[in-house]
Amino acid sequence: MFLIECPWCGERDMSEFHCGGEAHIARPDQSESMTDEEWAQFVFMRKNSKGRYAERWNHAAGCRRWFNLLRNTATDQILAVYRMGETAPSVATDEPVTPSGEAPIGSGNDAVKLMKPGEAL
Ligand SMILES: [Zn+2]
Repeated sequence: MFLIECPWCGERDMSEFHCGGEAHIARPDQSESMTDEEWAQFVFMRKNSKGRYAERWNHAAGCRRWFNLLRNTATDQILAVYRMGETAPSVATDEPVTPSGEAPIGSGNDAVKLMKPGEAL
């Protein structure tokens, strides 16, 4: 459970909101000429990356407006909230990185260990 700051209503409980998936996905201009594979790429394929991620959110139990939210998916830390049509703000985060490149928090990647030269298992 965490709080989300709606750009219009202020800070509210997350239960009032619905996530609409990845933000900044542009609809294709000529969708009727796309192949089925290209259309499937547009409809279904998203980054789903770990770390900084821009998402669309709707304040469903409040003003019902959509907005964008920049969140660290490894820690659920909300980095920024901004209105639709605005570009994502540049936010510095200290994203912890494991030797394999994954963030250690919430990654479940406890088996990865960086071996130093000459170090025994
Ligand atoms: Zn609102």
